[in-house]
Amino acid sequence: MKVVRTGGELAAAPRAGTRAVVMTMGALHEGHLALVRAARARAEQVVVTIFVNPLQFGPAEDFLRYPRDLDGDLAQLEAVGTDVVFAPEVTEIYPDGAPTVTVSAGPVGDVLEGAVRPGHFDGMLTVVLKLLHLTAADLAYFGQKDAQQLMAVRAMVRDLDVPVEVVAVPIVRDADGVALSSRNAYLSGDDRVAARALSAAVAAGARAAAAGEGVEAIRAAAEAVLAAEPRAAVDYVAVVHPETARTLPADHTGPAVLAVAARLGTTRLIDNTPLEVR
Ligand code: AMP
Repeated sequence: MKVVRTGGELAAAPRAGTRAVVMTMGALHEGHLALVRAARARAEQVVVTIFVNPLQFGPAEDFLRYPRDLDGDLAQLEAVGTDVVFAPEVTEIYPDGAPTVTVSAGPVGDVLEGAVRPGHFDGMLTVVLKLLHLTAADLAYFGQKDAQQLMAVRAMVRDLDVPVEVVAVPIVRDADGVALSSRNAYLSGDDRVAARALSAAVAAGARAAAAGEGVEAIRAAAEAVLAAEPRAAVDYVAVVHPETARTLPADHTGPAVLAVAARLGTTRLIDNTPLEVR
């Protein structure tokens, strides 16, 4: 496994056949490794990027305290068969400070996470486009865990004719249902238990959909579960369009995404599931 820190070193790394990229912010867990394994199964060469992107964090968010563990990350990546790790410094990616030209996520970036975190999706897409250029990957793997991120990336690739195939990987969960997240490391014992309310809410919504309920009953089923957890401050519970993240009308049928976000103490968590509304 080759570990490189600069764009020049990355460009000089040997290339063999189809190249897949998995972009991460490090503090890796089984969710990230599922992406690497999926990439490994299809591509001759797997590049993993590790970069905590300051552009996608708001001024009051956790950029500085975001968990970082490069040595631990490298050991895990080596074990699952990564070819190249690109772990640049912030100054390598943004040598002149914040870039003057950035990507705008458009309407998909305004709702849900985008409403709570203004500018988040613009900052995310800007670094994703840079990393796609720097890695020159044929395939890019993203987790369904960040469903709106996936929607925004797909919209950018479509609207800007980015020559890459986007591949989605299902959410990896802990045994108790909680979606794996680097931010779970922030949770104290009680909050880690309370975090189950998010996945339980999503599961309740999925059951309602499977039982043939409509959009509003699905949303209400999820909301009731989250509301029953006193430690969770709910940001949103929404049934949205799988491509635009827009809230769906009550009479919608067809594919949808049930998305939830809540705060436990100072930690914000998200979860979601794809649904078929009948
Ligand atoms: P992050 O390091 O949080 O920016 O995540 C990097 C990539 O891993 C993103 O595409 C995430 O959607 C994906 N990812 C993170 N957690 C999970 C999970 N529990 N299951 C599947 N994919 C995940």
